[in-house]
Amino acid sequence: MKVEATRPLARLPDEWVLEVARHGGRSFHGKQVFRWIQARGVTDPLKMSDLPANLRVALSADGLGAALEVADQRRAVDGTRKLLVRLQDGATVESVLIPGVSGRRRMGAEIVEDADAAAADEDEDESEGAEEGPMRVTQCISTQVGCAMGCIFCASGVAGLKRHLGADEIVAQVLAGRSMLDEGERLRNVVYMGMGEPLHNYDATVRSLRLLTHPDGIGFSPRRITVSTSGLVPEIARLGQDFAGQIGLAISLHAADDETRTRLMPINKKYPLSVLMDALRAYPLPKRRRITIEYTLVAGKNDLLLEAKKLAKLLRGLPVKINLIPMNPIEASSLGPPRMEGTLEFQRALLDAGYSCFVRRRRGDDVSAACGQLALLGAKPKVRVDRS
Ligand code: SAH
Ligand code: SF4
Repeated sequence: MKVEATRPLARLPDEWVLEVARHGGRSFHGKQVFRWIQARGVTDPLKMSDLPANLRVALSADGLGAALEVADQRRAVDGTRKLLVRLQDGATVESVLIPGVSGRRRMGAEIVEDADAAAADEDEDESEGAEEGPMRVTQCISTQVGCAMGCIFCASGVAGLKRHLGADEIVAQVLAGRSMLDEGERLRNVVYMGMGEPLHNYDATVRSLRLLTHPDGIGFSPRRITVSTSGLVPEIARLGQDFAGQIGLAISLHAADDETRTRLMPINKKYPLSVLMDALRAYPLPKRRRITIEYTLVAGKNDLLLEAKKLAKLLRGLPVKINLIPMNPIEASSLGPPRMEGTLEFQRALLDAGYSCFVRRRRGDDVSAACGQLALLGAKPKVRVDRS
């Protein structure tokens, strides 16, 4: 199941330096190749116009491969675009472009209308001038085809793991997404919240983070990237160490006691709440940053007011903000979201306990925007389809 780490489109600058040296190229040529691929999205060596001709030909003969193609794009009425991504072996995953985070917050009501964690944080940090300039877009990306974690409310979990993505396939989603932005939009945040458990595919996830944050590539600031995990404790610690806590962390908690959490998320048997909470306390979070706690509300499973109070107690002392996500119904299960009043009561209890707590509006509902749904649905368009 292991994916080779250094396929051409996953190479870092130093690796390109070694590679071009095999063809007699100089070290700055290696850096140029990296820039062509990762900053400009050009994967045809013959088009890398500042390389010597013989090097272009040699690299072209080796072939860089192509990581993916965007097979389908669905645009929801709220502007969310869901991309159906087809990988080289025909497997499909999904990626979502979510525009318009700024200026949508309903003042005072603590309902945030964006579908991601990090972007909301950025807005809080930099609320001044948020209405100015280009429309900020957040991209949600996948790390696996399916998922091995088996969460019962999740389409990817129900499907099971088909395979890991390589770092090239993870980053290529961002390169493709960036190239598909509408005029006046700018890619601002990346969230690892698509199909799959990023920390189960740790090496490729880390390599993709290094590629995305490299200053000669797209050059994302690590704080604009958030990795979401169901709670793989050893890998949370490793991620904290490998990036000195700079990468944003989101935890899919979904319950405040072990019995309930294990019922929803089998991974809780391996890493129960006490162990997970210790890992969060140990995460080397920079000052003024918070861990995002995701809590998918599933009617009759984890939505009692009592559970909100338990959650408040569990998280006491941790720098967190809480995102409540009414469950998006999935085909494979009869589970669903609680009524809106119940959701707001749950939120109220957490606000009263002193937490930042948002209800995430389900962006792009009309295009099956819940985790894993589009890729698993196949390519049957439900609404308007824009082919790219
Ligand atoms: N595997 C990682 C990241 C991908 S899932 C994780 O679990 O964190 C991204 C988020 O979507 C998680 O918080 C997950 O619990 C949530 N999610 C999955 N299926 C959902 C559904 N049907 N409705 C609402 N949220 C869902
Ligand atoms: Fe995997 Fe996340 Fe879905 Fe759980 S919620 S099955 S960890 S993708």
